[in-house]
Amino acid sequence: MRKRLLVLSAALCLMFTACKPYDTGAERDFYAMNTIMSVTVYGRGAETCADEVQQRINKLDKLWSVTDEGSEIYALNSSGSAAVSEETAELVKFALRIADRSGGALDPTIYPVLKTWGFTTGEYTVPGADELARLTELVDHQKVTVSGNTVTLGEGMMLDFGAVAKGAASDEAARILRESGIQSALINLGGNVMTVGSKPDGSKWRIGVKDPTGEGNIGVLSLSDCAAVTSGAYERYFQAEDGTVYGHIIDPESGYPVDNELLSATIISPNGTLCDALSTAVFVMGTDKAEELWRSWDGEEDFDMLLITKGGEAIITEGAAELFSLSNKSLTLKVVERQ
Ligand code: ADP
Ligand code: MG
Repeated sequence: MRKRLLVLSAALCLMFTACKPYDTGAERDFYAMNTIMSVTVYGRGAETCADEVQQRINKLDKLWSVTDEGSEIYALNSSGSAAVSEETAELVKFALRIADRSGGALDPTIYPVLKTWGFTTGEYTVPGADELARLTELVDHQKVTVSGNTVTLGEGMMLDFGAVAKGAASDEAARILRESGIQSALINLGGNVMTVGSKPDGSKWRIGVKDPTGEGNIGVLSLSDCAAVTSGAYERYFQAEDGTVYGHIIDPESGYPVDNELLSATIISPNGTLCDALSTAVFVMGTDKAEELWRSWDGEEDFDMLLITKGGEAIITEGAAELFSLSNKSLTLKVVERQ
């Protein structure tokens, strides 16, 4: 009798462990940074860790929102100079570095232009050429200084972290999880994807790359401990009365939404902030300049990229080629080598 009971409890115990969150993961879906976020964490302590990540991202959203009157960015934009937290100062410095490296394609001081187009409020207008000429005068990352934790802008300038905040949040999320011993998690912050470890079964995470022209994916990236971030004009845009479609990524030189041969740019790197910053920069730069940037890259952290062009090409750099499987056979795959 006792033996039977033992067997029964052992079996129950096994069933119980099999049904624990190891299978389903602790999932949190929430809205932050103007997008839908989803965090799935596996392993011991998953529930607590998922909560911690959600709280941290909400806190960063409060620090970095351009529209929230309580945010550090709002304070900075209102006064032109402000003492900010360590994480904000670090992100300003990072954005300025990538602005430099990308020849100003990424420029965190784009906000006056972006605001006038209405991309932050949803009240869209097409500014006149004169107005845009005046506004682009206010866009110049070289006029931003960071001294200790004090950020100072030039006259009339304003900052926006829209191109880097989600990437930075994904790095923070991954850091929290890794420090808590989590070995498997998937973080999707509105298309900014970060993977921690591999899937619970040990295989790589399969990350779909969206078809920028319609529904579904054009292919899949197999990643572990790596981020993938896509920028394109297909997710946030508006259509003017004359039918013209304007995307939310602005060419800082002209003040107009980017309209080049690219449909989307995906950056792949373990550094999520770098992915986010470069996906925007590369989308602005276009294919040739982006390839040049990749070839001459000497940052301490490397990156790979996947560009989808209006001409039907999927251009991928060699480091990511073996991680990518193309399913949309109407695209021609071209692998770029560094030599
Ligand atoms: P998403 O927000 O869709 O993930 P991105 O990471 O490419 O896309 O960021 C686009 C956002 O970055 C815009 O909504 C805007 O806030 C800001 N932005 C637009 N153009 C630029 C630019 N050239 N440099 C820096 N930030 C930009
Ligand atoms: Mg970006």
